[in-house]
Amino acid sequence: MKTHKLYESATHTWFMFGRDPNKPDKIIDTNQYMVVTKENALLMDPGGIELFSSMLNTIIKSVPIDKITHLFASHQDPDIISSLGLWDQVLEGATLHSPWLWEGFIRHFGMEKITYSPIPDEGSSLSLNGVGIEFFPAHYLHSSGNFNVYDPKSGILMSGDIGAALDVDDAPLIVDDFEAHIPRMETFHRRWMPSNEAKSDWIRRVRKLDVQMMCPQHGRIFKGEDVNRFLDWFEQLEVGVLNTK
Ligand code: FE
Repeated sequence: MKTHKLYESATHTWFMFGRDPNKPDKIIDTNQYMVVTKENALLMDPGGIELFSSMLNTIIKSVPIDKITHLFASHQDPDIISSLGLWDQVLEGATLHSPWLWEGFIRHFGMEKITYSPIPDEGSSLSLNGVGIEFFPAHYLHSSGNFNVYDPKSGILMSGDIGAALDVDDAPLIVDDFEAHIPRMETFHRRWMPSNEAKSDWIRRVRKLDVQMMCPQHGRIFKGEDVNRFLDWFEQLEVGVLNTK
């Protein structure tokens, strides 16, 4: 698994882990993200059971394991958080931030030592050594209880399945040709995003943020003007459509 540094300042660093050449064939490729501050680390959408050993081996090269005090799961899907029971065995005193709606389900992945901190529907925030991290509502995009992570200082929006693309395993990190990227996203968004209303509401709220980089859980990252190109494209896309004829 590869490590990419997305942002670095005096207060914190953003990492992305993914593009694993040793990943088993039939599982979807995922991007994992981590924010590291002076004394803490927040690991976001840490991935599935299949990825755990590779993730652990990769992460400890960037941060000592006892610094990982916070986990985040945007929603309940197995590619997001089925590794929970394994993290539970290696982390001490960690907290999982996840939608309140999914607590009764996510606990089925196994959790004894980790504390579940339910995020209310309206979102919440977290201060990691003074670095403010926001859990930004993204309900029904695609899960009925769903959050993004926004860091106002770096302008990074970790957008989960929004902006996700199905790409080759060794795809470049950043979108370099937006028009060419559309076919990799279109079917996925039409089928997996169930609500046009939720979509429009999310776009309206995201436009008020200062997003420099939008980082999805699958595929490439949107940077600079491509963030707006994505919002414009997503706005006109009709979602929640499946023609079975
Ligand atoms: Fe999902």
